[in-house]
Amino acid sequence: MTTQSITAPTPTHQSPLATAHAQLAGAVEHLGYDDGMHAMLATPRREIHVAVPLRRDDGSTVLFHGFRVQHNVSRGPGKGGLRFHPSVDIDEVRALAMWMTWKCAIVDLPYGGAKGGVAVDPSQHSAAELERVTRRYTSEIMPMIGPDTDIMAPDMGTDERTMAWVMDTYSVNRGYTIPAVVTGKPIAVGGSLGRGTATSAGIVHVTEAALREAGEQLEGTTVAVQGFGKVGGHAAQIFARRGARVVAVSDQYGGVRADDGLDVARLLEHVAATGSVVGFDGGDPVSNAELLASDVDVLVPAAIQGVLDAETAPTVRARLVVEGANGPTTTEGDAILAKNGITVVPDVLANAGGVVVSYFEWVQANQAYWWTAEEIAQKLEHRMVAAYDDVAGQARREGLSLRDAALTIGVKRVAEAHQIRGLYP
Ligand code: GLU
Repeated sequence: MTTQSITAPTPTHQSPLATAHAQLAGAVEHLGYDDGMHAMLATPRREIHVAVPLRRDDGSTVLFHGFRVQHNVSRGPGKGGLRFHPSVDIDEVRALAMWMTWKCAIVDLPYGGAKGGVAVDPSQHSAAELERVTRRYTSEIMPMIGPDTDIMAPDMGTDERTMAWVMDTYSVNRGYTIPAVVTGKPIAVGGSLGRGTATSAGIVHVTEAALREAGEQLEGTTVAVQGFGKVGGHAAQIFARRGARVVAVSDQYGGVRADDGLDVARLLEHVAATGSVVGFDGGDPVSNAELLASDVDVLVPAAIQGVLDAETAPTVRARLVVEGANGPTTTEGDAILAKNGITVVPDVLANAGGVVVSYFEWVQANQAYWWTAEEIAQKLEHRMVAAYDDVAGQARREGLSLRDAALTIGVKRVAEAHQIRGLYP
């Protein structure tokens, strides 16, 4: 058996776990908690590291490393996505799981936070190979997951098809169909209407709420979106439909801009045909660095973590940054944006629409009764706007940034659950 090298490139910026720990430390200090509570909040309840051997289509074998971390389960089952990306390691999964805990608490879902990942590059594998990776990973972590213990969903590199494989593997092993073990599954096997676009719809709701607070409206607002995948692509489309002007977008290969606004519907067709925004004839090429520095009202980083750091944050000219990705801003980046008077709607609030509709999907699966698209859209908007108002109110009252206010609310709800439940034994 050969072992595939999966060492992540040396990070040039702060690691996601360092960012997550720094954010938690700030909230703990603001809330005045002692070291014991800080340690409880900082430390995952359970983690598992599994070997995921894959028999490739050509008969050879490679080995990947897989992880699942339940950061906190005090408010309910662990909840969070499954990521397939070569950079995945235990610390990245720990950070993402911690962010899920705060995110679920901020939008007041009866969940804790969890995350999983396999250090595999999905672009290098056939669908059959990805299915075998998914099924083997699921079998290896089986003792830790379940509809009442830890519920998976898509994240970077995974999609509704991946969730169908997880659901099937889990169900076959248990002997009956258990749709509530994952969310973000295809509609045909118990998925929810609106789940595919929920993260993006939520981003637009909080952007609108933030603009409204500043006495502005979405219509005519200029927007740049980094990342044109499940989150960024749909967000650009919804922004455009709602009358905003999407002037620049990018993906991992490059970007395009058009000051009069991109024709997003046509751009989506170009991406479906070519796999990238690059080469779109309705705009001029732009690099990812130029996109982050776009002269726009709203910048939506919806690609990967750590893109707004000490180097790039000083170049940002948007007035509002709405974090579509998890952890796109480092601690230094955050301080620079604040110093420059740029408002940041943090990830744990801005991209919570996905897990909100995941929750709706889980509730529907548990009651075996499905809601209409209108009901879901309405309930999602209500939750997102209510959470935004909570966070903005806290920020005003206590003189905090939106990030610190959001984390303070999330961390406090989790700490209260610990305190009320008491310590066993
Ligand atoms: N992966 C998404 C996130 O980071 C969704 C998680 C979920 O729905 O459980 O929020």
